[in-house]
Amino acid sequence: MTPFIQSKLPNAGTTIFTTMSALAVQYQAVNLGQGFPDFPMNENLIELVSDAMRKGYNQYVHMNGLPLLRERIAEKIHFLYGATVHPDTDITVTPGATYAIYSALTSFVQPGDEVIYFEPAYDSYVPGILLNGGIPVGIKLVHPDYVIDWNEVKKAVNNKTRAIIINTPHNPTGKIINDNDIAELRNLVRDTNIIIISDEVYEHIIFDDEKHLSLLRYPDLAERSFICFSFGKVYHCTGWKMGYVIAPAEMMKEFRKVHQFNCFTSNGAVQYGLAEFMLQREQYTELGKQLQQKRDYFANAMSATKFRALPSSGSYFQLYDYSALSNELENDFAVRLTKEYGVTTIPVSAFYTDATDHQLLRFCFVKKQETLDRAVERLVKL
Ligand code: PMP
Ligand code: GLN
Repeated sequence: MTPFIQSKLPNAGTTIFTTMSALAVQYQAVNLGQGFPDFPMNENLIELVSDAMRKGYNQYVHMNGLPLLRERIAEKIHFLYGATVHPDTDITVTPGATYAIYSALTSFVQPGDEVIYFEPAYDSYVPGILLNGGIPVGIKLVHPDYVIDWNEVKKAVNNKTRAIIINTPHNPTGKIINDNDIAELRNLVRDTNIIIISDEVYEHIIFDDEKHLSLLRYPDLAERSFICFSFGKVYHCTGWKMGYVIAPAEMMKEFRKVHQFNCFTSNGAVQYGLAEFMLQREQYTELGKQLQQKRDYFANAMSATKFRALPSSGSYFQLYDYSALSNELENDFAVRLTKEYGVTTIPVSAFYTDATDHQLLRFCFVKKQETLDRAVERLVKL
């Protein structure tokens, strides 16, 4: 007899990304749902990783990450954000940013601790808090501009508040934080014991000459933060599941205790390749401009449809309002779009614990031009 498991996540189903991608395959739809590029990644990086494998770099690397890669990450951070981070103590290479966020939570959340996060939210945050015995405290970004209501945040803070999760550029809205948000965050956490988890996986994917306000720019915030990054988003290789986390030495010590017993170390050959490839700075400094062209190309094509774009300042995504087309709930409409019109998107309600529905769909525009064209050809028929 199969033993019974008392679920630790009784309310969780399969993630919306997996669900919608499977539906896209089933109905041969153009998949603008799950966030991944459909164009090839850089051949040179593939070569560098393949070379590393051929040269025999196929055994475990240091549990905290290949030392050379950590040095290159430290150099990059200094170059971009003027911050000094120590490769030995402040950087750990991880199998992706989702893992980094989860392990960060695991390293400090105690049962009953409250963790503030903003909705709509990337779907791993709440389960990550719950599995560690924490209490997720969701605060809604104010629709339709998706600004943070700092008064709400202040009201939510109490003596059980252990951490706050921020995400900029933001998935799914494409919103970025500004100087005022930084000032509010500083005021909020000053003289407290609150830890910040900053999800910055879209650090380079920022548009219209805006600047990414990494918490690494602010020593008083960085000194209490786990800042999480993803190589997948930078180098168009989301399937490699590689990332890293930056934190002050004392906090990182606890992170590494969790990490060493969870996966111990990340893919070694990939780290050799990445360390070499990171010397090519233009690969990431140009990324925002390149993807801005895609955002604009897609938005321009979409203007021939009845969908109405909300602004996107960064990330892989743009939200579109479909209220001129249907009164259906987002999930129903998204499923029907896939089945009847052959275009897959993500309902934004999936990013809320209470399924808040504003008749918005998230489109991933980081796709080949022909893919975007094919999608719009179908959407103009609505
Ligand atoms: N955070 C956000 C906001 C994301 O969109 C993603 C993309 N999946 C991640 C974290 C996770 O990145 P990774 O694939 O490196 O785990
Ligand atoms: N971050 C990606 C998205 O939002 C998907 C990652 C995943 O499937 N877990 O689409």
